[in-house]
Amino acid sequence: MVKARKYVANKDFQGVPKREDFDLVEYELPPLKEGEFLVKAEWISVDPYLRFLNSKIPAPYDQFGFQIGTVQESRNPSYPVGTQVVTHEGWCDYSNAKETDDPLAKVYKLPDLQGLPTELALGVIGMPGVTAYFGFLEICQPKAGETVVVTGAAGAVGSVVGQIAKIKGCRVIGLAGSDDKVQWLEKDLGFDKAINYKTADIHKALAEAAPNGIDCYFDNVGGEISSIIIGKMNQYGRVAACGSISAYNEDPTKMPKATVLQPTIILKELKIEGFHVSRWSQPKDRWPEAFSDLVQWIKNGQIEVRSHVTEGFDNIYDAFIGMLAGENTGKAVVKI
Ligand code: NDP
Repeated sequence: MVKARKYVANKDFQGVPKREDFDLVEYELPPLKEGEFLVKAEWISVDPYLRFLNSKIPAPYDQFGFQIGTVQESRNPSYPVGTQVVTHEGWCDYSNAKETDDPLAKVYKLPDLQGLPTELALGVIGMPGVTAYFGFLEICQPKAGETVVVTGAAGAVGSVVGQIAKIKGCRVIGLAGSDDKVQWLEKDLGFDKAINYKTADIHKALAEAAPNGIDCYFDNVGGEISSIIIGKMNQYGRVAACGSISAYNEDPTKMPKATVLQPTIILKELKIEGFHVSRWSQPKDRWPEAFSDLVQWIKNGQIEVRSHVTEGFDNIYDAFIGMLAGENTGKAVVKI
């Protein structure tokens, strides 16, 4: 019998999730069933959607999320002992995993990282990278010379969107929450302009950075900042509505108000499209397509990556809250 530990979300979070909203449970894993394999976790991801989905799922539930681990025992010949895997088993140290058709809870062998660090399979060579790749290229449909704005620009998804936009020949403006992040975006990642949305006059800063207007907006945050950006878009502008983290800790029955956008949407003939990354899992799994380009771009030096690493299974909650508060530059991950 394998002794395992897992975090159980025990209630609907009110505002910022509290430590006592999770129980740390020790239990014995049942014996493997046919098709299952025992995975020991090595890296666990903390992501904004874990907060977002809490209000959609009745508690208690085992805290889900992506993790990377190695198969210790197996009753599935496709996953022999020693195989490195990505699963959606979440905040647990051992799990009995199996393949699934659920596009939100994918289980797959670690992609070929060509020597890049393993934890990138939770970031740029994982779900966030796929979100940036398809969400930006297929929904924004950027053209060389166009002006692109991305919010959450120094995070896992945003930092990749901005760099893909540069690869495609666009002028790129990023919004992020600290001067250090602004420095990183401009000096290391090659953004044409980065803006600290917490201290800048966003109207003024955008007017200066995008004097000819905005063609594509990759929206990670929602709320009033997005209304300001969308208000400055050009004719036939495209918006990829990816996330709305500015409201994830708000009471869903009392959502904040933002400036009405319909007159601009109509006058400028804008296209605004929401999406889930699972769209590119079915009917055909297209994630490997994104992985292949992203690995090459990293190896060519066209995409720079950073992981924000927290150490230790007992610190997953802190890593999660830190990420929601903006402590991470790049992808927030926990090393087990
Ligand atoms: P990040 O790595 O960007 O981490 C979250 C960041 O959000 C923080 O670092 C913080 O950076 C920023 N943030 C927190 N609160 C606010 C706020 N009130 N206003 C503006 N920014 C805030 O996370 P991800 O890259 O993983 O995710 C980015 C977005 O993409 C999220 O909204 C997420 O839900 C969404 N997403 C959507 C997917 C989809 O399929 N549609 C898939 C994956 C992600 P800062 O210091 O800049 O404030």
